[in-house]
Amino acid sequence: MLADVNLNTSKMPWREFGGGIDFKTLRTSPETGTWSVLFRCSAGSSFRPHRHLGGGEYLVIKGCMHIRGGAESGGVTARDGDYGYEPNGVLHDQTDFPEETVLFFTNDGPLQFLTDDHKPDFVLDVTMIEELSASAPIAA
Ligand code: ZN
Repeated sequence: MLADVNLNTSKMPWREFGGGIDFKTLRTSPETGTWSVLFRCSAGSSFRPHRHLGGGEYLVIKGCMHIRGGAESGGVTARDGDYGYEPNGVLHDQTDFPEETVLFFTNDGPLQFLTDDHKPDFVLDVTMIEELSASAPIAA
């Protein structure tokens, strides 16, 4: 029987994801490849271009996230309380955080990170999330 999960995330340490972004792992499912995290993105940080290899959902808890250049460039600007669904296969150019931003993110599969010219770089999957959760340095 599977156990339910209840976490007091405010008592959990942030771990360094890299590039000014920290994370807390909330849940992983090796069976389905689903992983759920909180991301804390410092002002001026960004996620490199990536492709979703599984649908993902986010909820911005605080701050501001510009997807595909943000609303002013024809993309999406998500702020406090905004929710989004990112379908399997969607390609995202750099995602920017102009101010400190905290968001919940869950993905039903890996993210394939790409180089600036959109060549495959590395795959962030549930196994890598579990490894980073155990080994990434505790953030300040
Ligand atoms: Zn994305």
